[in-house]
Amino acid sequence: MTAKATFYLTTPIYYVNARPHLGHAYTTIAADAMCRYRRLAGDRVWFLTGTDEHGDNIARAAAKAGVSPQAYADEISAAFRDAWRRLSISNDDFIRTTEPRHQTVVQAILQKLYDAGEIYFGKYGGLYCFGCERFYTEKEAVDGNCPQHLTALEFIEEENYFFRMSKYQDWLIAYIEARPDLIRPERYRNEVLGFLRDPLQDLSISRPKSRLEWGIPLPFDDRFVTYVWFDALINYVSALGGPGAPAWETFWPHVEHLIGKDILKPHGIYWPCMLKAAGMPVYAHLNVHGYWNLGGGKMSKSIGNVVEAFQLTDKYGHDAFRYFLMREMTFGLDANFSEESLVGRLNSDLANDLGNLVSRATTMIANFAGGVVSPHGDPGPQAAVVRDTLDKVRRDVDDAMRAFALQRALVAIWEFIAIVNGYIDAVQPWALARDPARRERLDGALYTLAESLRCLAILLDAFIPGTAAKIREVLGLAPQALVDLRWGGLMPGTRVSKAGALFPRIVAPVGIHPEGALGAPRVGSVAMDVEGGKDAGREPAGARRTSAPAAAPRIPIDAFAKIDLRVAQVVSAEPVPKSRKLLKLRVDVGEVAPRTIVAGIAEHYPPADLVGKKIVIVANLESTTLMGVESDGMLIAGSADGRLAVLALDRDLPPGARVR
Ligand SMILES: [Zn+2]
Repeated sequence: MTAKATFYLTTPIYYVNARPHLGHAYTTIAADAMCRYRRLAGDRVWFLTGTDEHGDNIARAAAKAGVSPQAYADEISAAFRDAWRRLSISNDDFIRTTEPRHQTVVQAILQKLYDAGEIYFGKYGGLYCFGCERFYTEKEAVDGNCPQHLTALEFIEEENYFFRMSKYQDWLIAYIEARPDLIRPERYRNEVLGFLRDPLQDLSISRPKSRLEWGIPLPFDDRFVTYVWFDALINYVSALGGPGAPAWETFWPHVEHLIGKDILKPHGIYWPCMLKAAGMPVYAHLNVHGYWNLGGGKMSKSIGNVVEAFQLTDKYGHDAFRYFLMREMTFGLDANFSEESLVGRLNSDLANDLGNLVSRATTMIANFAGGVVSPHGDPGPQAAVVRDTLDKVRRDVDDAMRAFALQRALVAIWEFIAIVNGYIDAVQPWALARDPARRERLDGALYTLAESLRCLAILLDAFIPGTAAKIREVLGLAPQALVDLRWGGLMPGTRVSKAGALFPRIVAPVGIHPEGALGAPRVGSVAMDVEGGKDAGREPAGARRTSAPAAAPRIPIDAFAKIDLRVAQVVSAEPVPKSRKLLKLRVDVGEVAPRTIVAGIAEHYPPADLVGKKIVIVANLESTTLMGVESDGMLIAGSADGRLAVLALDRDLPPGARVR
């Protein structure tokens, strides 16, 4: 996104008849990522969410709870605000339909439409669902039942005010047909055009107070309150102060809505007609996402089946939850939710691919370069792939975000992560570090890694902002913008500290193998994902987890059991004459007499430091003679980056104790 733009994005206002659930969380997180991205691009952004608080359902739920509708709405609305705060949602405003600022605008628009003859008084009888608070046509009903609730529709007849929506049918069809991406993805545009093949009815916009008091009174007839949908949709305008207000002038021409497909009809049909009648421009885009399936049924606010989403964020972290929702759902299609697939993505994409990259890169910079990125380096020919991939990924992410395809943006970013991991494997900085003559190559490689992390912190900032902040922290950087996503932005001399584990690897609950379960939920929901075949080539989990050399082939447990490991206490230690590397140790292994072993550790340990230590030896190794001294066993030591450490016990055990 090159030219600075203005961007106004709304979520639906959530109906306060239920606490926040997974569907709400997805919509709000997706909107948040989009707004964060546009802010990174330098755009002028306004991000609105809120709560819808009027109507039959709220009045009845409040009565059941024994409180006033306002008290009931206050409590649930606060639960939403609290949830979004906990998820670090960056909304600029939160509107409630019970606020005077909203009611004033609703009444002004109603009066304007009434004065213009767009609203008339009439009688209507039809099939009504009290759960949906709307009439259904015979054709929409499923065996006489509400298609949403599957409960019986009731025939009711009453006098009400009607909005002349039918007169906008031809205009709306032409408007949508002239704008291929007004409603997207295309399947939902087609669905709206499908609705419009049938005659459009006028919309009943009032409810008699005799039946319902909990609503905004009609300004021209106080025997009625406003139908909840007509009231609710206007929040997108009232939050900006209403038509003509300064914020409305700035942001309304750029408005985009993000909704779930269950509320396509009010947003795809009623709302454009209402805007047209009131003399306001129609939205730039209506972005529509699918349902989350949980054990087969859809996640809906009215049909139970609700995940307490926030238990999962507490358990696995906000960023893991955000990442999973955005990555798992192909925007527009339905997706399946399961804790197992969340754990699978957490382990593979976050802990393994991203977390290990950050930890191994910063560890190598700390260990091989004292934590300072050198200005004199030669990154080698392989670094060109990293730079070229960054350019491609930047463009891919931008294209994906323009199309609201969040999952595609994440796939692109993970392509970059894979390339940087591959760069490490190809240049092997740990091997360069052993050879002083290849210092420049090492410095170039370490710069490439640090610069890749800087770029990743920018790329990830919109999606998993907490993790991006942690990456910036190890690089000592302030937040950066998309314009800084150009190779070479990291200043030489930058101090890098070792990153802790960004994501814990979750060990599966008993009986569930997250790596195995990973495939299952993706079959249905993400099979159409463009990178479908790519994961098949993924390295086995753990293959890139450390900077250690490649793992040895697997052996059966009985092969390991042949090795007799024992605790041994060092009785004495002395250099082997004429040898630079060897020490001769006498060790007590709980046998009749101490054994002699020869170990190549003289450059790492002064002999005196070893006396009295309890170490681990291989006790059943065939004896061998080194520099004229017979060695009856072998001590165990680890080494990395030229450093060596003898294995010792962290609790006391007697000499001769078995180690296995
Ligand atoms: Zn219903």
